[in-house]
Amino acid sequence: MEKRFIYADNAATTAVSEEVLNAMLPHFRTAYGNASSIYKLGRDAQRDIEDARTKVASAIGADPNEIFFTSCGSESDNWAIKGTAERLAKKGKKHIITSVFEHHAVLHTTEYLEKQGFEVTYIPVDEKGLINPEDVKNAIREDTALVTIMYANNEIGTIQPINEIAKICNEKKVIFHTDAVQAVGHVEIDVHKQGIDMLSLSGHKIHAQKGIGALYVKKGIALPNLIHGGGQERSKRAGTENVPAIVGLGVAIESACRNINEKAEIITPRRNRLIDGILQLPYTRLNGDRDKRLPGNLNISIEGIEGESLLLMLDNYGICASSGSACTSGSLDPSHVLLSIGLKHEVAHGSLRLSIEEDVTDEDVDYILEVIPKVVDTLRSMSPVWEKMMKGESYE
Ligand SMILES: *Cc1c(COP(=O)(O)O)cnc(C)c1O
Repeated sequence: MEKRFIYADNAATTAVSEEVLNAMLPHFRTAYGNASSIYKLGRDAQRDIEDARTKVASAIGADPNEIFFTSCGSESDNWAIKGTAERLAKKGKKHIITSVFEHHAVLHTTEYLEKQGFEVTYIPVDEKGLINPEDVKNAIREDTALVTIMYANNEIGTIQPINEIAKICNEKKVIFHTDAVQAVGHVEIDVHKQGIDMLSLSGHKIHAQKGIGALYVKKGIALPNLIHGGGQERSKRAGTENVPAIVGLGVAIESACRNINEKAEIITPRRNRLIDGILQLPYTRLNGDRDKRLPGNLNISIEGIEGESLLLMLDNYGICASSGSACTSGSLDPSHVLLSIGLKHEVAHGSLRLSIEEDVTDEDVDYILEVIPKVVDTLRSMSPVWEKMMKGESYE
């Protein structure tokens, strides 16, 4: 078996595409103007920023003046949540609704707000990793300022019933924000049609560079300024614009949203083959709903092994994968997402996430399916937990 290099961790980050890089390059050395400057070099930069804004807007069904560039998805989440909280607290609304399995950019923000005196309701997810919109409906109160529920989960890939949740929020006149960092470019989004009030997205998950994101804020929502200073981003987020990154994001999102269905048709059968192949191993289970999930995502728990050891061995075979989220790896706590769908600690520890795109070929899938059983066998043969399991002893 010839060693391959397979990048199957696109949910963690992606490579900058050649198309994006080529669009960015002139902005470092020749088209380097400050967009606030009056001469042509500056006006050109301004025009390129607005072009990118239009691209981002049309990719998600928004108007360009509803798009604000930020430095990342985390910043967009923070701004949307803290900004809304700050504004509506003045009207006596100090209740926020979110879910138990959000990205930490949301969860740590709501935890911070709890310390500031806000009350937060954490909606549970079922064993498939799905939210019941009725739970959101029942949680809304007179003093609810915001509902923030992620579009698609970064670990188990489940796609939430966003339309239903948005409809409930619209009816109850509560602002609805969604962290769509994992969804953009993978599912079709139309914020106006879907009734979404605010949406966060990030460049580096869709082949733009790291350190660029955007926040969509529906017209009429007065989000407080995030950075005070110059007049950039209509004075809401001051600071000289990162023109190369913004231009790159525009190209990346346009490209990512161009052939969503065609891409899904290529990726989904390969993803399913990986799922079925890995599930042939005994004591494995698929995490997340089989159908309501991102086309390239699979997350499988493999009992009797340690996720970290699995990742290191896969790395030796040239396979980049993940266990839990990249942010949680390195810590010993199992992923809060896997615990939220009811996994026991030791099962959650032995989980594998692959997030693939079209560049992972059928031959790559064959290779992965050859490597994983070997590696799992090796790890299980060394595992005291596995030994106890096989003897039917308790190992907790
Ligand atoms: C990656 C990710 C983020 C954070 O985006 P950054 O640009 O890395 O800050 C937020 N939410 C989700 C769901 C993500 O996958």
